[in-house]
Amino acid sequence: MPFSYVESLSCPKCQKKYDASKVQQLCTCGSPLLVSYDLQRVKNRVTKEEIEKRPPTLWRYHEVLPVQNECNVVSLGEGMTPLIEMQKLGRRLGVEKLHMKDEGLVPTGSFKARGAAVGVSKAKELGIKELAMPTNGNAGAAWSLYATRASIKSHIVMPVDAPLITRKECAIAGANLYLVDGLISDAGKIISQLVNEAGVYDVSTLKEPYRIEGKKTMGYEIAEQLEWKLPDVILYPTGGGVGLIGIYKAICEMQALGWVEGQMPKLVAVQASGCAPIVSAWENGEKESVFWENSTTKAFGINVPKAIGDFLVLDALYQSRGCAVAVTDEEITKEQSLIAELEGAFVCPEGAATFAAVRQLKASGWLKGTEHIVCLNTGQGIKYPESVEEHVEVLQPSDRISFIR
Ligand SMILES: *Cc1c(COP(=O)(O)O)cnc(C)c1O
Ligand SMILES: [Zn+2]
Repeated sequence: MPFSYVESLSCPKCQKKYDASKVQQLCTCGSPLLVSYDLQRVKNRVTKEEIEKRPPTLWRYHEVLPVQNECNVVSLGEGMTPLIEMQKLGRRLGVEKLHMKDEGLVPTGSFKARGAAVGVSKAKELGIKELAMPTNGNAGAAWSLYATRASIKSHIVMPVDAPLITRKECAIAGANLYLVDGLISDAGKIISQLVNEAGVYDVSTLKEPYRIEGKKTMGYEIAEQLEWKLPDVILYPTGGGVGLIGIYKAICEMQALGWVEGQMPKLVAVQASGCAPIVSAWENGEKESVFWENSTTKAFGINVPKAIGDFLVLDALYQSRGCAVAVTDEEITKEQSLIAELEGAFVCPEGAATFAAVRQLKASGWLKGTEHIVCLNTGQGIKYPESVEEHVEVLQPSDRISFIR
């Protein structure tokens, strides 16, 4: 039986088809390409019961992943992260059923490892020797580590103020790392120039079709972990939007496979008020977003002023009857400490933003409180130590402390 039922690549804008066994980047019309599978054959050959017996990594869904030969799989054990009930926090937010999908528990400490695992595996299958990308940190870290495992050289450009640990991850992976005094969009321009001149494989967000395939496995896992019954609402911290597009794609595929019960969950794109191009477009009923000038937020992973796949994100929001919400950095910080205080979970600022959005949507009445809600925590809080202020006293070895009741 084939390892993958990948069929072709197709353009969601102009419907043009491309050969998935050759290196492809964007469509000639400028749109990202999406991977299509022969879902009828998948449906006939594999059942969800068989999948449930497989090892707990994202490769358990290999029939609907693009890697054709198992020997090309580059894995560090990513996937099947816990779906945790957040009872105390839910009570505080006024919602009855709240789960957190905790992506902090993947290699490299962020869900970017999913996109990197599948993207790098496919790059290896296609014979790629060098890749390049702009990043806000986590993607560069994940891709350079997985690339190294696949003996692929990586060239990474990130903003100077990206989280320090992500720099160290690139450095220790042996990536060719540069910092730019600017935003991810500025890093993107530098990478484009390298790609055009040196012909290096461009793995910028959505400029190769496979990162989204890795990220979509979050959607498969959420369904499987809920015994194939879909939740009502899924909130996602949206930068480039790959995870949101991926989750939407995964649910459409599972519906075609007849694997899931319930209707399409309402998808919610959560952004920071200092960088909210998708929210602004959604509020105006637009199909595409406008570049967000002077963007700024401490939730670094979602500081993306203009996403190349914005029209796909907005389409998923409209199709799923979801919405888009912006939260302030202050709300993020407050929610991050409340989550730790109540639930013992140290989430990243991007993840905290989704819970702050639940709070807002409950207050506005968009959420009734009876829905089954899933929030995505996209990374480890410990990757951002500077996001937390602590107040501690330094003692001398001879000091004593009094017992505080
Ligand atoms: C990259 C990133 C995001 C945003 O992901 P997209 O799929 O590009 O929207 C959210 N959170 C963290 C921690 C990230 O690193
Ligand atoms: Zn096209």
